Amino acid sequence: MAPSSPDQKAVVIGSGIGGMTAAITLAKSGYQVTLAEKSRLAGGLMRSYVRRGFDCEVGIHYLGALGPDQPLRRIFDFLGILPKIPLEPMGAGGVVDRYYLEDFSFDLPVGLDAFAGRLRAAFPSEPKPVAEVLEIIRLAAARLCSPDTLSGRSMIFDLKKDLHPLTKFLKEINCSDRLRQVLSVITAWVGIPPDKCPLYLWSTALASYLLSSWRISCSGARLAEVCAERFRELGGTILTGDEAVRLNVENKKVRGVILKSGLELPAPLVVAAVHPKIVTALIPEGSCLPEYRSKIQSLEETSGVVCLHAVLPEPDHGPVPYNIFSLRVENEDLADVSFIQLKPSGKPSWNILTVIKPSGFSQWRQWENTISGRRGPAYEDAKNREAEQMLGESRKYLGPCPNARVLDVYTPLSLRDLAGSPRGSAYGIMRSVKQKFRTAALHRTPIRGLHVVGQSVMAPGILGTALGTLRTLVPVIGPDKFDHW
Ligand SMILES: Cc1cc2nc3c(=O)[nH]c(=O)nc-3n(C[C@H](O)[C@H](O)[C@H](O)COP(=O)(O)OP(=O)(O)OC[C@H]3O[C@@H](n4cnc5c(N)ncnc54)[C@H](O)[C@@H]3O)c2cc1C
Repeated sequence: MAPSSPDQKAVVIGSGIGGMTAAITLAKSGYQVTLAEKSRLAGGLMRSYVRRGFDCEVGIHYLGALGPDQPLRRIFDFLGILPKIPLEPMGAGGVVDRYYLEDFSFDLPVGLDAFAGRLRAAFPSEPKPVAEVLEIIRLAAARLCSPDTLSGRSMIFDLKKDLHPLTKFLKEINCSDRLRQVLSVITAWVGIPPDKCPLYLWSTALASYLLSSWRISCSGARLAEVCAERFRELGGTILTGDEAVRLNVENKKVRGVILKSGLELPAPLVVAAVHPKIVTALIPEGSCLPEYRSKIQSLEETSGVVCLHAVLPEPDHGPVPYNIFSLRVENEDLADVSFIQLKPSGKPSWNILTVIKPSGFSQWRQWENTISGRRGPAYEDAKNREAEQMLGESRKYLGPCPNARVLDVYTPLSLRDLAGSPRGSAYGIMRSVKQKFRTAALHRTPIRGLHVVGQSVMAPGILGTALGTLRTLVPVIGPDKFDHW
């Protein structure tokens, strides 16, 4: 419920897009909010980092649904951050994403009509499956853009269909293998293999980028700062470099948060914008049933990723105005998706190359107990091998890169340390068909006043995380706070 006195306190744990969305929303609603972040700098995955003077992005390469009346624009507007974020629309040349299979390529355009045209042209012998797919994507787009998205009412139209696995559905409607592979690419952005990805998550993710696609023309660090400035303007306090280590709980009600430094932050409302497995570790022994803890701890995670950042000199390589997806197929199913982006670095004469590909935690396990920056030469060698492989992959599409300078490679261990993501998972808990019931209400906890938000709760991505956070807060602070939504 909305605060009864103007100085009612709330604590938000974690300062990624989930934590910032929660902190700004609560501060706007009259709460006195303290945001606790374990890292030295606020921003979580949205914050870029600097290597050799170049900004390297982590968790924002492009954004969907930022056009007028589209959901991410509504959210940024509601938070009061939109005017301070420089945005560039993608797809001016007709392509947002280019998918490469061995002997085939497909261009994802902006706009549902353009997408319909491309699908029909690329798969002329499959008008029926194409029509069925388009109908679902149009519905997903309409649901996303409806003002009811916030209450969640517009999200469900046919639960049985929504929770159907993508691969099974595409086979049932007789899609060819090639059409199925093309349509499945977007599942990489939610970290779920196509045969485990529920139809609603796939169609919503694809619809969000088809509605409109954007790159931010500032660094992720700037975006994090814009959120932090807005929160401070509203009277909020940010404590960085201090980790939440325990929740104060009495009679199954939260009373506040205890930080590593020993500082206690009393509050009857705590929003944990961190991975749900971290939240269970903060709940004192005996304050919740062991079944709750073991249920959360046993949930399957999305895979980790390994990411290369390199700079290429402008005379060799101009920026590429679209994203490249390099696809690998195994037994006619999409097995791996690598993401390649070459864009201006912000420094004259250099463009920055980002390559992201999936990478399991087991590959890096031998270094799991080592500290970042001190993992030793064998770890550096393993990263260098990944860098070579990813540069090789990029050469297939960009041509030779003789003057590429590698800036950095990060691994699932880096993600674990940066975001506190168990086993370095990139997109949090896997909201797969198999886990559909066990992940249905991750925002709720058995502790009164304690709410969980963040990318595991509804969907990953900046849009999924921010929307899931707002939807969690609607019943907490009251729907009237969203009147101008
Ligand atoms: C490689 C990669 C590329 C991506 N690309 C895109 C993209 O192009 N577009 C897009 O929309 N999405 C993208 N995403 C997804 C998107 O970045 C995430 O879904 C989103 O940023 C997650 O936000 P969050 O708030 O849930 O978590 P995070 O950003 O991880 O924030 C969690 C914060 O909590 C802090 N924390 C953890 N434990 C504690 C504690 N005990 N006390 C205090 N603080 C704590 C962490 O330090 C961190 O700052 C990408 C993700 C990855 C990994």
